[in-house]
Amino acid sequence: MLEVEQALLQVLERAAPKPPVRMNAADAMGLALAEDVASDIDSPPYDKALMDGYAVRAADLAGGEAELAVIEEVTAGAVPTRSVQEGEAVRIMTGAPIPEGADAVVMVEQSEMLEGEPPRVRLRPPRVSPGKNILPQGRSMRRGEVVLHAGTDVRPIEVGLLAEVGRTEVLTRPRPTVAVLSTGDELVSADHTPEPGQIRNSNGPMLCAFVRHAGGAAVDLGIARDREEELRAKVERGLDEDVLVLSGGVSMGVADLVPKVLREAGVEQVFHKVRLKPGKPLWFGAAARGERTTLVFGLPGNPVSSLVCFELFVRPAIAQLAGRDASRRPIRRVRLAGEFRQQGDRPVYHPAFLRDEEHGAVVELLNWQGSADLRTLADADCLVIFPAGEKHYSEGEQVAVHLL
Ligand code: AMP
Ligand code: MG
Repeated sequence: MLEVEQALLQVLERAAPKPPVRMNAADAMGLALAEDVASDIDSPPYDKALMDGYAVRAADLAGGEAELAVIEEVTAGAVPTRSVQEGEAVRIMTGAPIPEGADAVVMVEQSEMLEGEPPRVRLRPPRVSPGKNILPQGRSMRRGEVVLHAGTDVRPIEVGLLAEVGRTEVLTRPRPTVAVLSTGDELVSADHTPEPGQIRNSNGPMLCAFVRHAGGAAVDLGIARDREEELRAKVERGLDEDVLVLSGGVSMGVADLVPKVLREAGVEQVFHKVRLKPGKPLWFGAAARGERTTLVFGLPGNPVSSLVCFELFVRPAIAQLAGRDASRRPIRRVRLAGEFRQQGDRPVYHPAFLRDEEHGAVVELLNWQGSADLRTLADADCLVIFPAGEKHYSEGEQVAVHLL
């Protein structure tokens, strides 16, 4: 049986980033950049005042207190017309360019205007060295410098930075489209009251939400009965998208038709079963159609198995299709809050939640009733990874957690 890491490699090998598109930078939020972005300006574009106050020559204040002639007033957006000579100061506002000759700004709170014309000011700052309260030209970025790299996720911060460097258009990778198909004769949709033998389809809505959360565009294909013809028709529809995610029908039951139907639809099986708990029956394949390849995941039907397989395999695949770095894993090492006994030949991904304590974060295991128990997962924010084998974990021991 494949190990999780090997299986993930097999998935990522087949997940080619989507071709880039040029778009409005203001709409790029949530997408990955497909180009490096360089600044077209120095920022700040000039030596800039960081305080309201007086631009001075620091040397004039070497003795502590000084009285200086105020020769001009410069507000943000204005340009100084005079240079500051010995014994002179310029009244300056935050964000305005520092006049020639000045090399420091004294805060207005440390000043006192004197009576009379021409205007004079008394300054008594604690200590003024050259550069005080000035952000030098180009300190934040230089013209031509790459400030955002291809693969960067565009968040509101990046939208602002793109505007600062004058980019109104940018190359990004579009959202991968992901079809979600729930299979099973027992399933009814959430707006039905289940009859004897029936359960509500929770995987469909959950997986669609996961897809959106992972940066994909979800296409909900609803429920397919465990009938070959019905499955085949919906699978065909799903193969129009970048990814097709099915839930259910990949185990060893008589109604588990999904692998057969997928193979008959031209989906080449890459692997079936991964050494993992929960999630062992996972099926993965790829279908090439003309230019495009559709990645196909058959997730086990139990909701928590579906969830774990989505996090471990589908989310990284969506990330890579979307042009992000899928090798960055949301894994942290923290201390276990209690004891745990691990036994078995598969690694266990156990639902848990993180808690802050005085000496750092600890992780607390939830009282979880197995892969059908989605309810307990509502309290989880991570999965503790217990490697295969027999081991007694004691309280305080370091474990790896996968953040949800
Ligand atoms: P299967 O993988 O089809 O054998 O399903 C395994 C278990 O998961 C069964 O108890 C199913 O009833 C349950 N199950 C399958 N699909 C769903 C779904 N879409 N939502 C909730 N539970 C499901
Ligand atoms: Mg089933």
